[in-house]
Amino acid sequence: MLKGVRKISDRVEKTGERVEKNKGQSGGQQVAKLYFRYGQMNASKSIQLLTVAHNYEEQGKRVNVYTPGIANREGLGQVASRVGIARSAFPIGVDTDLFASVRENLPHCVLVDEAQFLSRRHVEQLAQIVDELHVPVIAYGLLKDYRNQFFEGSEALVLWADQIEEIKTVCVQENCNRKATMILKVKEGHPVYVGEQIEIGGNELYRSVCRYHYLHPDGSVLIETQGKSMVPRGKSRN
Ligand SMILES: [Zn+2]
Repeated sequence: MLKGVRKISDRVEKTGERVEKNKGQSGGQQVAKLYFRYGQMNASKSIQLLTVAHNYEEQGKRVNVYTPGIANREGLGQVASRVGIARSAFPIGVDTDLFASVRENLPHCVLVDEAQFLSRRHVEQLAQIVDELHVPVIAYGLLKDYRNQFFEGSEALVLWADQIEEIKTVCVQENCNRKATMILKVKEGHPVYVGEQIEIGGNELYRSVCRYHYLHPDGSVLIETQGKSMVPRGKSRN
């Protein structure tokens, strides 16, 4: 596990360098970018976000972390990773003005978890943060839902981001080495391809699979009890 974490932090450090190197271009002014890093479920998106935040803070730089979803009693959201690392985050509500929030304290970087749940308006605010406040923004999230359609936030990020990067993961089907590009929804042992985008409180599972196994799910993918509920962070907790 340590080995995996180390690899991720190496990769993240490279990105940090890239952000730094952007300084000094266009007449000494920092050129910030809006990054959209998408991946399937369990592709270590939250771990990467937490590592980037850690790297910035280690250098004495401030980071604002945001997450869509419901706040806890202290008024904070949470970014949690599968390996047990977590940190508090500013929750994003329907009426949250991300631009105004960032303008208040001008951090060195803005990180957004579960970016697929953002509204188009929120994504436009992220672009405004980059262009007018010159603060780099890195948004992590899923690209598509189990119906193979964009989430609102993901679609807006694809349209507005300066740089789109894929965090790759392999199909969960045993003995399949293809890249996972789809999310398979499984309910009571059967694949589901139609319905509401987000079902809260259901007992369905979501699994990252390749296109072939999305259309031809094998027994073990359907039977296994492991999986992840896909609801906005916070709604699945408490
Ligand atoms: Zn597969």
